[in-house]
Amino acid sequence: MKRFRFSSLLLALSVLFSVCAVCPSALTSRDKKIVAFGDSITASGAWFSDAEKAFGISVVNKAVGGWNSADGRAAFASALAQKPDVLLLSFGMNDAALDMAKYVPLETYRANLRDMIERATAAGARVVLVIENPIGETDYYTRHDRAVFEPHGGANAFYLQYVLAARELAAEYGLVTADLYRIFTETAEMTKGTVDGLLADGVHPNARGYALYASALVDALYRLDLGDANGDGRVNAVDYMLVKRDVLGTFSLGERTGYADVNRDGAVNAVDYMLVKRAVLGTYALPRNPA
Ligand code: CA
Repeated sequence: MKRFRFSSLLLALSVLFSVCAVCPSALTSRDKKIVAFGDSITASGAWFSDAEKAFGISVVNKAVGGWNSADGRAAFASALAQKPDVLLLSFGMNDAALDMAKYVPLETYRANLRDMIERATAAGARVVLVIENPIGETDYYTRHDRAVFEPHGGANAFYLQYVLAARELAAEYGLVTADLYRIFTETAEMTKGTVDGLLADGVHPNARGYALYASALVDALYRLDLGDANGDGRVNAVDYMLVKRDVLGTFSLGERTGYADVNRDGAVNAVDYMLVKRAVLGTYALPRNPA
């Protein structure tokens, strides 16, 4: 028994020292190529200067205003031609415009998203599904025909079917999401307001809304590689040793700190170390999306 413990200690020490031998005193992030693909909510780009500042990323924005998922599917080669490591995919708002030429039936929307997800994955890109924000109906009906939506419970209720379809695909494919619908709705509820306070025109976020988009995206990008403290694409014993040393103050995770904040509470501490360790041991599933 003693010998077993001693050999475990030696193993742990060898992991520790092999880590020290290859690591500087703090870690830096490998650059990923991030490509955004979607409609005007993403094309406006108002979200990504915040995200770039917070995350140190640069994003190639290939989203096009006015596009629905059929336009995206038809032009999808242009997104793949960018050879993204991470593809941000966001469609739905124009698809759900039942009174407009851009309307795409729900099952066609689902098939279009599925096609893009599968082609991106086959090309080696990891997809983050950006689930678009709710509709502010008062402003929406200044440009859309209210009567068309009334039998469906209103424009936002009709659009919610597309949101649910996107969430179902995210669950089916195990995708990380930036769920703007959930975040905008919860933020409005918390502030006892409506989503109108987060929107410019009933469809596009205003500055407050785009700040939420940016923070949701940053969170999603961390979740994509949660627990991978050293950025080698795997979560293993090296990662929990590094997180432990960061918590003990003998090492700095540096730019990788966000990946170690497994419970996403803004701090890296013993809780996160335990969660990474349990993930490596197979007794804990790293959360791909907020609970
Ligand atoms: Ca934490």
